[in-house]
Amino acid sequence: MPFWHFLYRCPECGKDPVLGDEDAVHCPECAAAFERGKDGAIRILRSGHPPEVRTAASLGHQIEALGGPIPRAVTENGEVQYRSRAVLRRVLREVPLRYRGKLKGFFEVHEEPEEGLLELSDETLTFHPGEGKEQLRWSLIDLRSIQTSSGSVQITPPELEAAVFYFPEDSPRRWEQLLFYAVRRARERAEEEGGMEELQSRTPSR
Ligand SMILES: [Zn+2]
Repeated sequence: MPFWHFLYRCPECGKDPVLGDEDAVHCPECAAAFERGKDGAIRILRSGHPPEVRTAASLGHQIEALGGPIPRAVTENGEVQYRSRAVLRRVLREVPLRYRGKLKGFFEVHEEPEEGLLELSDETLTFHPGEGKEQLRWSLIDLRSIQTSSGSVQITPPELEAAVFYFPEDSPRRWEQLLFYAVRRARERAEEEGGMEELQSRTPSR
């Protein structure tokens, strides 16, 4: 995982986003630099300070204490509004494989990757593909699971086995945390409005 996928925000001053690459992150605001060593320890370099060595976990907690990805993604009115360029790979439901009338197993059908824009709001997650293609929109309370793996975020909408998103310019960790936040809030609102019993049957899981 590129280091900036993990350290997408400056743990020192909170600047979001930072500039980063495979093993180093630089903050354009406070000028701190964070370097990942081979042993996994992080060296923090600041002018006028001796280098400091920290664990990735402690910097992760520091980012969470600043609100993680939320301040940048929430408007003054408290609404979630965030978008990134994304590549979507749809995984269709498992298809039965038959040979001479006998069921031999199942296989997943992967569709061609599509480039577009992924947009998160208070109630929905929308994928806007290129011109002429149909936009996909899911209600947040219908997503059955959210997880990150190898540089992507995978969600489970009702009609697909999975939808896998890659972010050419953004952090999958940021997106995972944002989706959890937005789904939780959407569910809380729905519960306040009633429909409690129906919701209990579709609790999102990791
Ligand atoms: Zn900073």
